[in-house]
Amino acid sequence: MDTERYSRQIAFPGIGFAGQEKLLRSSVTIIGLGALGSVIAEELARAGVGNLRLADRDYVERSNLARQAMYTEKDADEQLPKAIAAANHIAEINPDVATEPIIADVNASNIESLVIGADVVLDGSDNFELRALINEACVKHGIPWIYGGAIAADGAVMPILPGKGPCFHCITPTVPTPGAYPTCATAGIINMTSHTIASIEAAEAIKIIVGNPGDEAGKGASKYLSIDLWNNDFDVTDIERNSDCPVCGKGIYALLEKGIEEDMLLPLCTAGSFQIMPDTQGEIDLNALAERLSAIGRVLHNPYLLRFDGEGVSFNLFRDGRAVIRNARDAADARSIYAEYIG
Ligand SMILES: [Zn+2]
Repeated sequence: MDTERYSRQIAFPGIGFAGQEKLLRSSVTIIGLGALGSVIAEELARAGVGNLRLADRDYVERSNLARQAMYTEKDADEQLPKAIAAANHIAEINPDVATEPIIADVNASNIESLVIGADVVLDGSDNFELRALINEACVKHGIPWIYGGAIAADGAVMPILPGKGPCFHCITPTVPTPGAYPTCATAGIINMTSHTIASIEAAEAIKIIVGNPGDEAGKGASKYLSIDLWNNDFDVTDIERNSDCPVCGKGIYALLEKGIEEDMLLPLCTAGSFQIMPDTQGEIDLNALAERLSAIGRVLHNPYLLRFDGEGVSFNLFRDGRAVIRNARDAADARSIYAEYIG
C-alpha cells in the first residue's frame, strides 16, 4: 500500500490502516457523473476506493463546468463522454484506482449488471424514475445504495441499506411524472449544494465500506438528511420503514420486470431535446457517417460520439446508435430527424 498517499486517512480513527485496506479492495458503482457523480467519483478515487464503475449517458458541455468536478474546457471542446473524461482524470489522480467507464443510458435493461458486484452504489442521477429503478435493483440484490439529490440551494441524502431500514419506495411511493418537478435547468443550482450533497453521499459510502461502528445496526439507514444552504437549515428526520412496501417488503420489482420499450424515446430536461435509442444491435461506423454528413452540415466527432449541426437540425449520436436530438418540435419530429439523417 502507498501509505504516504493515504497517511491522513490512516491517521483518522474512523478508517485506520484496516479501513484503508478495505477501501482499496472495494468496488463502487456511480450512476450518473454530473454535478453529484463527478464529485463523488473524484473523492472516492482520491480516497483510494480500488474499483470504480462509472456510468453516464452524456458528454461534457460548457454548462457543466460551473459545478462538475474534474472536467475541463478541453473535455467540453472535444465533447468527451463524461464516463471517459472522468476515467481519464482519475488515471492522472490515482493509479491505484481501476475504472470501468460505461457510456450508456441506465435503464431496466442494464441496471442489474451495473450494480451486481458493487459493495455500494451511489446516486448521481437527476431524476426520480432512475432512482426508483436503482432502488429496485439494489434491494433485489441486497446492495446498499446512497440516495442523493440537489437543486438550487436544497439537497437531501439518505443511505438505503436493504433489510436494515426503509427503501426509496418507502419514502417516495409515487414517482412524480417528468415535468411535475423542477429540474436544474429550470430552478438552477449552485455548485456548493451539489458538492455538499456529493460529499455526504461519499462519506456514507466510505462508512459502509469500512464498517462504521455507529452504523452497525443500520443507524444511518433510517435517517433522511436535508439541507438548505441559502438559509442554513440542516435537518435530520427519522424515517420508518413501510412494512407493506412492495419493493423492500414484498419483493415486487415492477420497474425491472416491465423492462424497456423497444425503440425507446425519452424527452430530456432541456426543452426540445429527445433521446432516441433504436432497437438495433451493433455499433455505428461514426467515421463513415461523419463523411456523409459533412457534406450537409458541421460535423465534430471523436471515437465515442458524433455531433451534427445542420440547417435547423442538431444532434449527437453515440456509437451504440443512441442519439440526442436537439430543437425538435416534438417526439415525432425527433424520430423523423433520426430516420432522415442517421437511418
Ligand atoms: Zn421499501
